Amino acid sequence: MQTNFSPLQLADPATAASEGVIRSCVHCGFCTATCPTYVLLGDERDSPRGRIYLIKEMLERQQTPTAEVVKHIDRCLSCLSCMTTCPSGVNYMHLVDHARAYIEKTYKRPLRERFLRSMLALVLPHPRRFRLALQFARLARPLSPLARALFGPPASAMLALAPSALPSSTPVEASPPVNPRGRIILQRGCAEPVLRPQIRNAAIRLLNRAGYEVVLSDDEGCCGALVHHLGREAESLTAARRNIDVWIREIETKGLTAIVVTASGCGTTLKDYGYMLRNDPSYAEKAARVSAIAMDISELLAKVDLPAGRAGGLIVAYHPACSLQHGQKIVDAPTRLLAAAGFQIRVPTESHLCCGSAGTYNLLQPEIAGQLRDRKMASIEALSPQVIATGNIGCMIQIGSRANVPVVHTVELLDWATGGPLPPAMAGQDFNRSTT
Ligand code: SF4
Ligand code: SF4
Repeated sequence: MQTNFSPLQLADPATAASEGVIRSCVHCGFCTATCPTYVLLGDERDSPRGRIYLIKEMLERQQTPTAEVVKHIDRCLSCLSCMTTCPSGVNYMHLVDHARAYIEKTYKRPLRERFLRSMLALVLPHPRRFRLALQFARLARPLSPLARALFGPPASAMLALAPSALPSSTPVEASPPVNPRGRIILQRGCAEPVLRPQIRNAAIRLLNRAGYEVVLSDDEGCCGALVHHLGREAESLTAARRNIDVWIREIETKGLTAIVVTASGCGTTLKDYGYMLRNDPSYAEKAARVSAIAMDISELLAKVDLPAGRAGGLIVAYHPACSLQHGQKIVDAPTRLLAAAGFQIRVPTESHLCCGSAGTYNLLQPEIAGQLRDRKMASIEALSPQVIATGNIGCMIQIGSRANVPVVHTVELLDWATGGPLPPAMAGQDFNRSTT
């Protein structure tokens, strides 16, 4: 795509990087067919190509964007399906991240939008605050019509998605191997340990069984993905720097094989730390080191021999999270691991399409997110699964809000099949692990 940036504009490294991305787009439009918002809405401005054009115009003019432009950028899920499809290697992720940060700096949103977005940024990355907010949301659910009248559809979506009970967190008894094959940090995350603490426990057992010593760091915080996708660039970089300091200390004092992530949305961001901090002389090199050893748990487990699985042929519909399949290009590892553990794996049609979760998207754009979830559920239900597995907490909550079978994390199934306890979501149902 042709651009018209001035030399002065291109002196800004972020604009120069975006110019490179825009110029790599050849208008072919292949990406439109796999973009969930274009598939649903059929508007070029809700397609990757249309958004690239809107972002180009916005950045070139260096003016405050109109509400119309912001609406179409906001409707993007950052699912990155377009990046998988694009034959020209357009890095849409970096472009839309820049656009969101630009909008955040230059555009004044209506008051209630500002309030909701600020609340999300203040609460979600902090597990204690998030837990309290969920307890409050549960009590406030009968007031959903009033919340909707005051704050719009996102407010009632927040109340509807809050779980009716929060699982208590019981720390797992780690069984570190005597001669570990490596030492890994298991990233703590922020939403996942509040909503499904059993995922971390299953991951620790599984990693120990695979021969790894697992370290949890008390000093790390949210990876910054949630605020990053809200365009709050300074906050996301602060979060990244804090974690980089903690992990570099671990690398330099005791050595680390990998930083392992169970929430694939966080994993995509960790792997992008090197790019996010490329212009910070104090952090660029350290950020690149952290990104180089960040791994999704399925990526690590695919490289080792797990004990033989005894899943007894349970039928599992595997939903590939966008952040895993498009963001990190991890496509086969989870299904290969599950199949090797004895599960029958079925992958829904349109598996490239987002379920509508997308970080805070299902809260801020509940109507589109609801349509995507229903479409996803129709393709999953057609498989008649006994269980649904996925590798990202956001997808678990989104799909779980409509599923009539248990929705679990991939590592919970792998842990169970290789000797761990039944995932809590499957409790009380007749799932027999094979004894052979
Ligand atoms: S990130 Fe997803 S929603 Fe956004 S333009 Fe690309 S395919 Fe469409
Ligand atoms: S597929 Fe790639 S090159 Fe083609 S229009 Fe979409 S972003 Fe541009």
